[in-house]
Amino acid sequence: MQFDFSGKKVLVRVDFNVPLDKQYHITDDTRIREALPTIQHILEQSGAVILMSHFGRPLEKRKEDGSINVEKFTLRHVVEHLSQLTGRNVLFAEDCIGPAAQNAAAALQPGEILLLENTRFHEEEEKGDEAFAQQLASLADIYLNDAFGSAHRAHASTTIVAKYFPPERKGFGFLMEKELKNAAQVLDHPKRPLTAILGGAKVSDKIKILDRLVELVDNLIIGGAMAYTFFKAQGGTTGNSLVEDDKLDLARNLLEKAQARGVRVLLPTDSIVADAFAETANHRVEPSHQISDGWMGVDIGPEARQAFAQAIIQSKTIFWNGPMGVFEMEPFAGGTRAIAEAVAQATQHNGAFSLIGGGDSVAAVSQMGLASQISFVSTGGGAMLELMEGKVLPGVKVIQD
Ligand code: AMP
Repeated sequence: MQFDFSGKKVLVRVDFNVPLDKQYHITDDTRIREALPTIQHILEQSGAVILMSHFGRPLEKRKEDGSINVEKFTLRHVVEHLSQLTGRNVLFAEDCIGPAAQNAAAALQPGEILLLENTRFHEEEEKGDEAFAQQLASLADIYLNDAFGSAHRAHASTTIVAKYFPPERKGFGFLMEKELKNAAQVLDHPKRPLTAILGGAKVSDKIKILDRLVELVDNLIIGGAMAYTFFKAQGGTTGNSLVEDDKLDLARNLLEKAQARGVRVLLPTDSIVADAFAETANHRVEPSHQISDGWMGVDIGPEARQAFAQAIIQSKTIFWNGPMGVFEMEPFAGGTRAIAEAVAQATQHNGAFSLIGGGDSVAAVSQMGLASQISFVSTGGGAMLELMEGKVLPGVKVIQD
């Protein structure tokens, strides 16, 4: 960050969309903590910080009378905790635009923090409205985007607002810089072999990323429910496994593309199969291309774990998105755990660079206590996936252009 923040008002788009319990207490403050380095840096340089963020979906979850549920969706819930984390008094503006915001921003002194109310209280936010964005921009001298998790959305506060700052007065915060730098380590100059591990529920969600990654990687590991669409596409029987019948051609095409490019595709040769989608279901191991009637694949089997782990350990760059099985149910978490351990081992013992992106795989490594052994765990699920798909994120483009 090459700015002189001294005496400047800095508008920072953060992602404070943290989960709350019923009493509106923060249950996971990771997103707030991730924004602290940028905030502290500006304050240390005697700048003033104006923070803006979205918080939940207030326009979709209105009260019965149609009004916005301010009590539930106000960013006020974050003020006290932010104050504790920064050791500073945090001022709050009841609205992100208009007199409340303008007056508070005008009175703001160097070293002070002002948090603006939820940007999504205005429908203009998600529409990317220019006039609304201009009002946000009018509050500050410099704009920083540090909300990587929202950078794939062309909303007013994540993208459009930047149009109203000249190039020398807009940039990325530390979190955003870190996310982009780490993604580039996979996408732009990976050490090889490069292995992508994709899991999760649906091929349809992952087809774009599969299509792109097959052009980049040496090994493509496919686990999770997604794998059964590939087995069916190859003529296998998949029992009750989750299969997308309308994606069989896509699966076949992808395998052909991989073969033409010399990419090694690893599918789980065996599976843990269950007779119901329940933690208490009976379960056993079966070949993934020959699953019995009435049974469904819920995790990768022991042979697959070993084969996947072997490929992972030999890799120098690893990207992982999506669990290998129904990891939320303990009897079916073993495959995801084995892969998490292999990625951690490759990172710690073989000097591999590993990046995990996407909500559920991040949750899985955190749950397994392995997050600290991974090179980089991304904070932005959707945004990281879109980067990996080869898209230019609007919130990034507007600053780089
Ligand atoms: P995604 O959001 O696409 O990454 O999918 C994550 C979800 O996929 C998790 O909730 C897993 O429980 C689910 N999942 C992974 N493997 C399977 C499977 N074999 N059968 C059904 N669901 C699965």
